[in-house]
Amino acid sequence: MSGTPAEAFIAADPCVHCGFCLPSCASYRVLATEMDSPRGRIHALKAINAGELELDATVAKHFDSCLGCFACVTACPAGVRYDQLIEQARPLLNAPELRSPAQRAFRRLLFALLPYPQRLRAVLRPLRLYAGTPLQALARRSGLTRLFGPQIAAMEKLLPPLAEEAFRDDLPVLVPALGPRRQRVGLVLGCVQRLFDPAVNTAAIQVLAANGIEVVIPPGQGCCGAMTHHQGELEQTRELASALMESFAAVIGPGKAAGPEPLDALLVAASGCGHTLKKYGEILGSQHPLVGKVADIQEFLDAVGLSEDFQAALQPLPHADGTPASAERPLELAYHDACHQLHGQGLQAQPRRLLGRIPHVRIREATEAGVCCGSAGIYNLIQPEEAAELGRIKAADLSGTGAELAVSANIGCTLQIRQAMGGQHRPLPVVHPLELLVRSYTPPD
Ligand code: SF4
Ligand code: SF4
Repeated sequence: MSGTPAEAFIAADPCVHCGFCLPSCASYRVLATEMDSPRGRIHALKAINAGELELDATVAKHFDSCLGCFACVTACPAGVRYDQLIEQARPLLNAPELRSPAQRAFRRLLFALLPYPQRLRAVLRPLRLYAGTPLQALARRSGLTRLFGPQIAAMEKLLPPLAEEAFRDDLPVLVPALGPRRQRVGLVLGCVQRLFDPAVNTAAIQVLAANGIEVVIPPGQGCCGAMTHHQGELEQTRELASALMESFAAVIGPGKAAGPEPLDALLVAASGCGHTLKKYGEILGSQHPLVGKVADIQEFLDAVGLSEDFQAALQPLPHADGTPASAERPLELAYHDACHQLHGQGLQAQPRRLLGRIPHVRIREATEAGVCCGSAGIYNLIQPEEAAELGRIKAADLSGTGAELAVSANIGCTLQIRQAMGGQHRPLPVVHPLELLVRSYTPPD
């Protein structure tokens, strides 16, 4: 365990209890109690360190209610690093006596299943006959899913239709650049993303290759460890991170499938994963050659720029009625800032600039763009009621912009918002920005 209460106390120390962080805090928004706010948790941590408060199950519950969205870090004028505080506190919360046997069992199930694509596939394969079919709609309407308890019901609610390609590992190890090669990158597929929205990785590969960027995709790659990292499961995170780095080492080198040349960057199209990948230096405690080369795919494309040919081939996207967007009637998009992109990686302008490359697109800003949607890794599975309320608020905010489409670059947020849009008077489709770039890309023959 790397964190101790004393280290966390140092991170909490500059707090002046001003409360500026409270309006941006997702848990405070839905629970409305001081103990479920950043200021309250900082106060509790100081009291624990001073020996005035015991870290028992009741106190731990108020730390567990934190989504780890880091909106409070962005909001804090005193520079309090709440992100460091909660990351150091999480492993302490995993002490067995702080959670009920049922909570521990459910977490064990999630950690044994979600970060392992092959295990998840084995569970999901029979569900192809259910997900996205009239049977699923009937089960939901009848209330049958609720019989299995709130957490299983929450999992079922997020289950999207399952595409056949989600069950295949047939991406090539090396996708060559179209035209002269400008860069050579590795692509992390994301364990949940490749299963629940495989079209995103397909779009990422198409956009990269069409921009003269060679892509290396190790076939045996697993989870980056984001989910366990956010929950303070440090040993499992290190194992997953090491395995991911080894999967790249297995294909890059003399005589290996992707050739000997080093990568210019390691990319991912899911911002929750990107946040953890950028912490591999700390997690692995060593300088792997790929540490320091991690970039969100939008950040990378914004930095290297679209190729002239690609840019020239971008055409206006159609409106819902089929007419193409125009200067008089642009296509309006509501960009959802994933917390681990905005607060965790400080990326806000880059995705907007990238989308702005599509002709006649206009971004509409949500009123509460910095507040979490309630997904937060496994939060929407372990705290389903609070997460559902946050999802409803987020969907209403995005829909209320008047945009035609919502755009999300994090698979957890995408699933959460798609599900929450179902309850909206004006539900918006939710797409990944790279899917929009692919739709817009119309090269000459
Ligand atoms: S964390 Fe920052 S914003 Fe929140 S109460 Fe403390 S000093 Fe104020
Ligand atoms: S990380 Fe998010 S949920 Fe947790 S205290 Fe900060 S703002 Fe609130």
